[in-house]
Amino acid sequence: MKDIVPAPPAIVHNDYASIRELFAKNVVPSYGRFEIVLSHGVGSYLFDVGGKRYLDLGSGIAVCSLGHAHPAITEALTEQSKRLIHVSNLYFTEPQGRLAGEIARRIGPGKVFFSNSGAEANEGLYKLARKFGHDEGRYEIITATNSFHGRTLAGIAATGQDKVKKGFEPAVPGFRHIPYNDLAAARAAISPATVAILIEGVQGEGGVTPATPEYLLGLRALCDEKKLLLLMDGVQCGHYRTGKFQSFQRILEGVPGGETFLPDALSMAKSLGGGFPIGAFWVREPYQDLLGPGTHATTFGGTPLACAVALKILEVIDKEKLADQARKLGDWMKHELERLVNTYPGVVKNARGLGFMLGLELAENIPAFSGSDKSAAIQFVNRLHTAGVLTIPAGTQVIRLLPALNLKAHEAAEGIHKIEALVKSLA
Ligand SMILES: *Cc1c(COP(=O)(O)O)cnc(C)c1O
Repeated sequence: MKDIVPAPPAIVHNDYASIRELFAKNVVPSYGRFEIVLSHGVGSYLFDVGGKRYLDLGSGIAVCSLGHAHPAITEALTEQSKRLIHVSNLYFTEPQGRLAGEIARRIGPGKVFFSNSGAEANEGLYKLARKFGHDEGRYEIITATNSFHGRTLAGIAATGQDKVKKGFEPAVPGFRHIPYNDLAAARAAISPATVAILIEGVQGEGGVTPATPEYLLGLRALCDEKKLLLLMDGVQCGHYRTGKFQSFQRILEGVPGGETFLPDALSMAKSLGGGFPIGAFWVREPYQDLLGPGTHATTFGGTPLACAVALKILEVIDKEKLADQARKLGDWMKHELERLVNTYPGVVKNARGLGFMLGLELAENIPAFSGSDKSAAIQFVNRLHTAGVLTIPAGTQVIRLLPALNLKAHEAAEGIHKIEALVKSLA
């Protein structure tokens, strides 16, 4: 392994303490960070400034779809940057047009708007919904409890978790939350002001909970009946993570009536640029021209550079059949996690998810965790850091595995082996 790792950049010679000091003095402390200072990576391995190696099963929260330092991404970045990085949306550029076509081809007939982040992609969905209902005075968007839709003001209003809203009142009006996977609750929540329902195909931050096929099909029928837009947030669960381009395509695979299912609009971000910031939303016919000239815009949306990188990632995923690999390997990992649930019920309670979007729910009151006031999820993740594995907590009881789509079989096995060793030591 060592000889194929490129020479670390100069920053490695700064020690951990001096970088921590820079943050303590200069960076707004809005993040709860782990005590790890990362320096460089290759594939699904990351290295900290002390030279310790970590298997990265979080991929920057479902972002680094091709892992770290992928040569195809480096090439797309360097080649495109020699031609054109940015020109603004006052003009046309080829990469943006081509990427929109590639996205629509993978979802369904419609058009795409480009943003820079997931929260911003969702802002586009809220504006689309308000525009759709404007002349009838409808504006209310129903979202699910335990959802996550980003940290802008409307994003925290849409998000069904109190912890993101606290301290930032008054909330942006026009959002209402209902229990997830509960069709009757959705029907009951609709008011004359309701214009749309927004859900994640698989709730991510909320603890890795997939929508049921009945829920998706039921919401589609309900939205058709009540003339509402069905909006989906595919920011985390999209981009082949579940084995299909969008999670609904995996969830509804082989389900009668599922072949024709489409949401009315869908947001994307995280994996789309493999680490280069880009977000997008797709909107289907006949709503695709609702946001006409002058209604919505962002300076950086869909730059030639961002779109060239996103196009290259799609090309690599297709060529190397990474969707199938993520699905097969992810489903194997889930099977292994289920085995841990059966073997060590006092430590792990449940394993769920699809493909490379997996959640392991920890049991309550793990004795080894009683001495700390940190959540079980944080303590578990910290112990995995010691073992050289990066994972992502979701809430207080769940850890998420969101690896790069090109994770190798032996890396998946290494991750499972280290998780098992930890679970065993806690039992
Ligand atoms: C991460 C996330 C967002 C927010 O994306 P940002 O790029 O952080 O703004 C929105 N929705 C879901 C489902 C997410 O996981």
